[in-house]
This record gives sequence, structure tokens and C-alpha cells, in this order.
Amino acid sequence: MKEAERKKLARDLEGIVGEKFVRADDVIRWTYAIEDFAGTFFHPLSDKYGPPDLVVKPHSAEEVSKIVKLANRHKVPLIARGGGGDMTGAATPLKKTGGVILDMTDMNRVLDFQEGLNAVRVQPGIRWGELHHELAKKGVTSGVRGPHGFLGASLGGGIGGNCFSINSPKYGWLNENILNLQVVLPNGDIIETGSLANTRVKDWYYRYCNGPDLVGIFLGSAGAFGVITEFTMRTYPIPEFSDTLAYTFPDTDSELKFVFKLEWHGYVTDLWGIAYYTLPDSIKKIIAPLVGERDIAIFATEAYDRDIFKAQKKAIDKMAKEFGGIALPVAGLTRALGISIKNETEWMGGGTFGKVMGPNGSDTCSIAHLPQWQKVVGKALEIMQKNEDALSGSVPLIGAEHFFLFAQILGRGGISNTFAMTPANFMDPEKVKQAQDMYNEIVESYMDTGYAALYRIGKESQFLMKRFKPEYIAFMKAIKKTLDPNNIMNPGVLGLGLEEGE
Ligand SMILES: Cc1cc2nc3c(=O)[nH]c(=O)nc-3n(C[C@H](O)[C@H](O)[C@H](O)COP(=O)(O)OP(=O)(O)OC[C@H]3O[C@@H](n4cnc5c(N)ncnc54)[C@H](O)[C@@H]3O)c2cc1C
Repeated sequence: MKEAERKKLARDLEGIVGEKFVRADDVIRWTYAIEDFAGTFFHPLSDKYGPPDLVVKPHSAEEVSKIVKLANRHKVPLIARGGGGDMTGAATPLKKTGGVILDMTDMNRVLDFQEGLNAVRVQPGIRWGELHHELAKKGVTSGVRGPHGFLGASLGGGIGGNCFSINSPKYGWLNENILNLQVVLPNGDIIETGSLANTRVKDWYYRYCNGPDLVGIFLGSAGAFGVITEFTMRTYPIPEFSDTLAYTFPDTDSELKFVFKLEWHGYVTDLWGIAYYTLPDSIKKIIAPLVGERDIAIFATEAYDRDIFKAQKKAIDKMAKEFGGIALPVAGLTRALGISIKNETEWMGGGTFGKVMGPNGSDTCSIAHLPQWQKVVGKALEIMQKNEDALSGSVPLIGAEHFFLFAQILGRGGISNTFAMTPANFMDPEKVKQAQDMYNEIVESYMDTGYAALYRIGKESQFLMKRFKPEYIAFMKAIKKTLDPNNIMNPGVLGLGLEEGE
């Protein structure tokens, strides 16, 4: 964008939100050119991403609507952003288009809580930590508690990126818990979806009642179809009884069977599974003296009633033994691994982990049906072993001497994650290139096993787009074109909003 045009746009934006909430200085702009750690693989070192031309902080749907109308007049891209932790360039401008970042984090209030409906109405810039704090005062929880990423991830970003993580085995994906959305469409119209589409309804939040599910179309759409300015999600009473349990298993097959049954019976809230054979030597050296060369499952369980809770734990123990499980004292183990699965401490674990890996590498994550998990892991390990010599000694951090895999098995009905950590020394361009190639090969392998690789959509959607049926792509493009003829909403995300071949 030319400097004169930028100045003019900045003045117009200041007219909407006030001078204090528009930034054009380089230092600020460049902080918005970066997402959390894995993004370092793509930007700012890559040619693909760049800083926004301007950053603006709105405080109401009306302000967002005015900004969207202004962006249409200027034909300038608008990128909604929460915590900026998506890792796929989803919340960062493309270098070739530039654009304005709509930083939503000042729109972070809890607006309404309806105990009788088990629902809370909030603004999308609220961060998971803030939401938990507010809900705890009311004795409720959000069920799904957010991504492992970090405390600073926003709910709006979670909706945009299909967040699936802590507590998902019991409560599902974040987007399964969404009841209503208020959205500013790309033409500036402010709409309500779900029950609030009916003007006579003021505070009854329900998703399915006014014809087709027009809430769903915005979920996971990464800001390509509109800006979410309010939403309602389900809440749940905080269970009085909860605990973290851990068992070791003689092999991965036994562990997977146990996990499947555990989920099937609805006993597990959250779960981390560690397959011994996928770990780097340095981590094996910590684990083996503690528990032997065995797989580990650490998980949370909860209940509302003391007797049910006791009976549940007994049933879990019996189930684990059926598959060769040996109970572990959890406190020592989580200390040794530097993680804790319970409550907010997990946020720090995830965040710290990300930051430690930060300057050096990237991770990617598959989503696979549980019975397929070993196949996905096997392929990724094969690729890693092939690259071992080329990349060995890349990064001395946290003992990840090469790269490693770990499995997180947390889905409803047995969805598993496989994380491939691919550290690379950014001081050595050749090693970076090798690590990037390996990384891409792993992502391709995840996709070819038939499963979406989480963190691989956003503006890195090329992996997914080439696997979609043409009719499906045409359908998505038709929606985009109808809603956003000027392509102002986050162009490039989900493979939408750019001309063919660009
Ligand atoms: C170490 C680490 C671990 C992670 N673990 C997980 C995990 O376990 N599970 C998981 O799902 N993710 C995980 N992530 C990814 C990331 O944390 C999540 O996707 C998170 O939900 C992103 O939230 P955010 O506020 O940072 O979103 P952002 O990056 O700011 O935005 C994400 C997308 O949503 C769009 N968006 C944001 N706000 C709005 C809005 N108001 N209206 C419309 N669109 C909007 C953005 O344009 C973008 O496309 C992890 C990330 C890291 C760094």
C-alpha cells in the first residue's frame, strides 16, 4: 500500500475507533507478522507473509461494521485476529496483499450468563484464561477448555480455527458447543444466527430452529466469511470430583485398546497418550528408569457425585488391568515430564513448550481415527528416520536432538493426534530447507492416510485443497464470492479469495 493511501486509511479508521486504537508504526505492525512458534517456519522468514499495513482495535459490532464498509471502499483486506496463535498464517496478511489486522482482543467481555439455559454470551476477543476466570465465579465451566497452545488464545480464534483439545474427549470440539453467533458480514451487515435471528427472541440461545444451520457456515471459516462479534456457547456445572490418573502399558496396541474403551464408557475428560517407541533417546532416558520401556496414558476423569466417582475410578482400574496397565503415581510423573493435565497449569505447560521450541522449529499434527493411529505414526517415523542424518544435531534444546513424535489421543469416538516436532537451526539455511521439506512430506503423509492435519489449514491450505473434490471447492468459492465479492475478508485463507493459480 502506498504511504499516502495508508495515511488516508489510518485517518478514516481513527474516525471510527479513535486515534488510540489505530497503529501504523513498524514495531507494532511487525509483531502482527508473526504467529506462535511454529509459524516461524513460514514467517517472518518466508516470502509468503508480511506485516499488515495497519492494525486496528474495534470495541463494538457497529465499529467493526463501519471498518468493513471502509475496507470495501478501499478494497483492502481485513484479517480478524485474536491471540494470533493459529500457526498457519490464518491471522497474518499475505505479503502480496497486505491488509489491515482487526485485533479483536479488546472485545473481551462476558455479556450474559443464563444459568437455566447453561449458556454464556461473550465477545470473541476473550481469551480462554479470562473466560475460565469469569465462569468459575459462577460455578460453571466451558466444558472444552481450549487449545494446548497458550493462555492467550482467544475464543474467536478457536471458532475460526476449529479448536479441539483440552476436555474434547468429553465435551467435543469448541464449535460443537456454539449456539449462536453475531457476525458482521463482508458487506457490513450485522446478523444474528440461530434463535436470535428471530427479532422477538432476546435471550434464548439455540442453534437449530430457523431453517438451515447458518451458525455452522461461519465455524472454522477462519474469518473468510465474516467477523464474529458475539457468540453464545454451552456451559456446564463444575464437577465436584475430579482427578488425574496415569497408567503404563506394555505396548501401544494395549494402550490404544484401553483408551478406546475408556472413551467408549465416557470415563475420560482429557487424555495424553505417550508411545515409548516414538520418543527421542533423550526422553526415553528419562522415562525408562521411572516406568520401564512402556507406553503411558495420563488422563483426567470427573463426576458430580462422590459414590459415582469412586465406582468410576474402580471401573477404570479394572479396565486398565485388563490391558496390562500398571497404575502410576501421577504427581511424580507430571513433574518429570514438566506437564500437568489438570486445570490451568496445563496452559503454562503448553505455552512454555511452544516457546521453548520457538526459535528453532515447527510441529504439525494429524487428526486420525484411533484405529489408524499406528499407521499415521509409522509413516511419519519412516520419514523422520530417512532424514535423521541430514538433520541430526540441529537443535540441542530440551534434548530434542533430532525431532520427535508424540501421540495425543483425545477424541470423541477415538480421534487421535500425532505431533511431529521438527526442530531446525535457523542459522543454517540448508538445514532449514531440509527440515521444511521433511515437514511437508509428513503433512502430505498425514493427509494421504485420509485425515486432516490440524494446523495445516489457514493459509497453508494447499495440502488440503488438492485433496478436496472439485465440486466441494466450487461450492466454497461460490459462497465466498456471494458473501465477499471484493475479496476483503482474509484473502488466501482456506484457499479462498485469490485468483486461480496465485
Ligand atoms: C503450542 C501450541 C499448541 C496448540 N495446541 C492446539 C490444540 O491443542 N488444539 C487446537 O485446536 N489448536 C491448537 N493450537 C493452535 C491455536 O492455539 C488454536 O488454533 C487457537 O484456537 C487459536 O486462537 P487464537 O486466538 O490465537 O486465533 P488466531 O490465530 O488469532 O485466529 C485464528 C483464525 O480465526 C480467525 N479469527 C479470529 N478471531 C475472529 C473473529 N472474531 N471473527 C472471525 N474470525 C476470527 C482468524 O482470522 C484466523 O483465521 C496450538 C498452538 C500452539 C502455539
